Amino acid sequence: MKEQIQERPGTWRLLISSVLILCAAAGLVAADDLSFSLSDAIGYGGTSADEQGTLLVRFVEGDGPPASCPDLFGPRTARNVREHVAAGAVEGACVERQYDDIVGGLSLVSLPKGTSVLDALAQFSGCADVLYAEPNYQYSLCRTPNDELYAEQWALNNTGQTGGREDADIDAPEAWDVQTGNKAIIVAILDTGIDTSHPDLVVNLWMNNAEMFGEADVDDDDNGYADDFYGYDFVNGAPDPVDDVYHGTYVAGIIGAFTNNMMGMAGVCWNVSLMPLKVGDAEGVNLDAAIAAIEYATKSGAKVINASWAGPDYSQSLKNAIDAAGEQGIMFVAAAGNDLSNNDEIPMYPASYESYNIISVLATDSSDRLSRFSNYGRASVDLGEPGEDVLSTLPTEETAAMAEAGLPTEYGVLSGTSVAGPHVAAACALMWSEYPPLSYYHVKHALMQTTDKVLGGLCLSQGRLNLARALKAIPKGQPGRVLNTRDDPNDPANFYFSIQTAIDDANDGDVIVVEGGADSNRIYLERIDFKGKAITLRSGSVTEPEDPAIYPETTFLLGLAEEGPIVTFADD
Ligand code: CA
Ligand code: CA
Ligand code: CA
Repeated sequence: MKEQIQERPGTWRLLISSVLILCAAAGLVAADDLSFSLSDAIGYGGTSADEQGTLLVRFVEGDGPPASCPDLFGPRTARNVREHVAAGAVEGACVERQYDDIVGGLSLVSLPKGTSVLDALAQFSGCADVLYAEPNYQYSLCRTPNDELYAEQWALNNTGQTGGREDADIDAPEAWDVQTGNKAIIVAILDTGIDTSHPDLVVNLWMNNAEMFGEADVDDDDNGYADDFYGYDFVNGAPDPVDDVYHGTYVAGIIGAFTNNMMGMAGVCWNVSLMPLKVGDAEGVNLDAAIAAIEYATKSGAKVINASWAGPDYSQSLKNAIDAAGEQGIMFVAAAGNDLSNNDEIPMYPASYESYNIISVLATDSSDRLSRFSNYGRASVDLGEPGEDVLSTLPTEETAAMAEAGLPTEYGVLSGTSVAGPHVAAACALMWSEYPPLSYYHVKHALMQTTDKVLGGLCLSQGRLNLARALKAIPKGQPGRVLNTRDDPNDPANFYFSIQTAIDDANDGDVIVVEGGADSNRIYLERIDFKGKAITLRSGSVTEPEDPAIYPETTFLLGLAEEGPIVTFADD
């Protein structure tokens, strides 16, 4: 189906100016200018008499009495302690939610009406029972309304149909010869929700069977949310993640529109479980909703999280939650942002966090050039992906945001790093469909090593995703284990699932043993950075690390030709 988009230059300008407001606000907060209240300007709320602000607060965990209220009466439950500490910091402050399943001690605190968010931030930050406190930031959806007349999926297979360069695409048909996906792989879409009635999406929706076959108004699977059939709406605290914008529905179609059903469009991943987690609306994405959604995705077995939104505010809570998801093996795909700026100089979050389970994605056009709006970053953006004038699904009923942007129902064309990211999330799902034992290290490394090198100087891998090459480059073998011999080799808790995480955790003088094994069927596909640490890295037996007979002399590191260094030492 082809749809034509009307030109809407006014909307484009509106989006740019809202991003600029966020950037300016971040600079002022960093300068500790607490006397100047920014809350209204940047949407953090809580300054006027009838507004109520919120903070993300990570409380110190412990069994002893809290330092700020040692005479605490009553049962010392975590909630009770946090309530008292919060009330001590700001009278009338209240613990609304706890996120201990993803980040221990992290809570959402509501402030009394009329309290300045920045004043409260200072009070909580100075409290001995608080590790950190931060505003409940808002992030921008990384979409740009389209202004060209076009509706062909050139990103998947480019024949020059829009005047672009032939084969400036991700080689999807070639990839589909290898793999078309698996319903067992769950991709959590942290966005504005999904139109769950869309005929091209419904077959690939994740389903919570415990609730489907459970009782109404009852939390049948005891995950904290009643009747969460397809996911959850963390913005309104409701079970149905209705897309009242269009953004999430669009993202979902790119990842996994049902394909080969003689209708509509093709998804990058033909078979997949799409888990809609509503974390934002037309205004943007709320930090507290994003944290709750990462917790939900992690507990529900998601393998990939897609975040097509970004902002300049560094949130420690968000970083901690993404890292915790990484410890469960989850990949987090993040849009680099739409400000045409260098993320190496002006970081955009979550894309710019230094977490290896994040893939940050810039957008390219149909001639393999950086898109006219896309952020970039030689060190901080990982790879590129088509993100301009790309067709996908839209809600079947028009929303106010669609009317404003002049978008049609059912299918339409958009641009943005919001568009690029989901292609990569789908690529991850295809990689795991092809070979489930892969760690996210393997998946990320294979995707980055096999890019078509058309983006020199613009991102770390210097290229645009090539799905077919990535699928064909998947190493077959079992991921090995990694042990730091400083720790007890008999305790499974001391094993790492990648060499880099073991190095990150090591101190000078430590010895790290990488599992070999008689079958030599262990794979470690990583780029290693020693970060200047004086440590020994060798292969061997992780169950008998002191046994000198097993492999230590035959440790070798293998790099691919023309891919640059695979090991980084101090001073590069
Ligand atoms: Ca091609
Ligand atoms: Ca439930
Ligand atoms: Ca139920």
